[in-house]
Amino acid sequence: MKNITVIGAGTMGNGIAHVFAQNGYNVSLVDVSKDALQKALSTIAKNLDRQIAKGLLTDDQKLKTLGNLNTYTELQKGAEQADLVVEAATENKALKLKIFAELELICKDSCILASNTSSISITQIAAATKRADKVIGMHFMNPVPVMKLVEIIRGYSTSDETTAAIVELSKNLKKIPVEVNDYPGFVANRILMPMINEAIETLYHGVAGVEEIDSVMKLGMAHPMGPLHLADFIGLDTCLSIMRVLHDGLGNPKYAPCPLLVNMVESGNLGAKTGSGFYTYDATSKEKRVSDYFRK
Ligand code: NAD
Repeated sequence: MKNITVIGAGTMGNGIAHVFAQNGYNVSLVDVSKDALQKALSTIAKNLDRQIAKGLLTDDQKLKTLGNLNTYTELQKGAEQADLVVEAATENKALKLKIFAELELICKDSCILASNTSSISITQIAAATKRADKVIGMHFMNPVPVMKLVEIIRGYSTSDETTAAIVELSKNLKKIPVEVNDYPGFVANRILMPMINEAIETLYHGVAGVEEIDSVMKLGMAHPMGPLHLADFIGLDTCLSIMRVLHDGLGNPKYAPCPLLVNMVESGNLGAKTGSGFYTYDATSKEKRVSDYFRK
């Protein structure tokens, strides 16, 4: 596999494109939004500079990495040469089914189609194509250039060959692949997201404030980030979508999303990417403070 197409240039897509390009693959990054593509390129350049500052990368490697990247707003142009597509568009089932149905028509027969979905069924996504054996979950963690894990999700019809190829490829990216089966939330979000939702419930019921909840989990459980800060970082819309997938897919009321999370998403306070969630984020100063809504 040499030509990799990444669909979606948001929080995850830019990181996935970065890692493939840095490891010598030709990367086509596709997004419906020109702004998202431009922002992704500048984020990648900034993150490469950070790696240089830490002594992990040379200037020459940065130039090579950027040289391996092309951007497209048209799926057809960005995906027709792909050996592998990694879809990282917005977490929405209807959107992903539409993208995979289009990929089926655009891509070479040999092309493997992977999704970075956090929770949507790989088996359902595969059913939108005629190559279910070549559809797989490739769930990277945020921030992609830093985090080692790739959760590899085998759909009901994913072949051993496809799984072996994606496990091998993940190792080539210097990541650690872990294979899991296709049930709602897989492993990562089946465990993480109910914990985040419970942290939001704890805030909603007035048990403690934003910083207090995060401090308990950081200092008491050695989590590197508190759950509310992490929710902002993941994106509250993504958190809500995942809770809905768990709730619908497992049919257990314990997975019902907290009404406060629903309100925050409906009001457009989606976390770090919109500058405001449980905390507000200043892009220039990089400072975060508890949002006015949650201040006593
Ligand atoms: P995001 O909102 O930051 O970015 C999504 C991007 O997809 C946007 O730039 C949007 O313009 C683009 N997009 C929407 N429709 C498109 C289309 N038809 N074609 C091409 N691009 C399109 O979202 P994100 O956080 O990067 O999440 C992307 C995927 O990764 C989701 O499936 C999410 O569940 C998963 N994921 C997210 C995280 C996280 O921490 N945010 C972690 C692991 C996996």
